[in-house]
Amino acid sequence: MTNEVIFSKEQLDEIISDVADKLNARFENQTSIPVFISVLKGAEPFFNDLIKKCHFEMKIDFIQVSSYSGTSSTGVIHLKKDITEDIKGKDVYIVEDIIDTGLTLNYLKQYIQLHYQPRSITIVCLVDKKPLRKVDLTADIVGVTLTQNEFLVGYGFDYNEIGRNYDFIFVPTKKQLETWDKLLNNDK
Ligand code: 5GP
Repeated sequence: MTNEVIFSKEQLDEIISDVADKLNARFENQTSIPVFISVLKGAEPFFNDLIKKCHFEMKIDFIQVSSYSGTSSTGVIHLKKDITEDIKGKDVYIVEDIIDTGLTLNYLKQYIQLHYQPRSITIVCLVDKKPLRKVDLTADIVGVTLTQNEFLVGYGFDYNEIGRNYDFIFVPTKKQLETWDKLLNNDK
């Protein structure tokens, strides 16, 4: 069985252009410099493609948290890498790949607010996956909304750290997961 493609490279390009249009409209008469924060590692392909389509001035930064193991969220969030920009009083845009339970972004939003007191926090996410939401969290700008609960791989989404490099998003087959498990096992 072949992997089920959820979003092709071309579809992703269109989705990201739409997100960038919304951001470009917000900054048409720019008076301040926002800080765009990429949530490592999953948001990287989205972040990189998105910022190239944004035609206003911004600063960028990176933050890293982890909560996933295999195909499910552990629910326990660890901060692995913090930002380095001074964002106090600034407009911050957190760019994330996906909202699933909502726990990661909920944590990040609270962490950033509490530690750095930005003027505002806006959440931009590529995929809003609704079925497993555990906290009342909504993104301000969303690429696409998914109503089905599927485990996605590709374009930043990983299976135990592999699969992020594909330029499309897919649902791996059982056979694909078994092949990856073997590879990962050999890699130990
Ligand atoms: P949440 O905390 O909202 O449950 O999940 C956020 C994080 O879980 C995302 O940043 C992403 O790393 C991971 N995640 C959620 N859904 C998926 C999925 O379908 N595939 C993969 N590979 N990761 C996911």
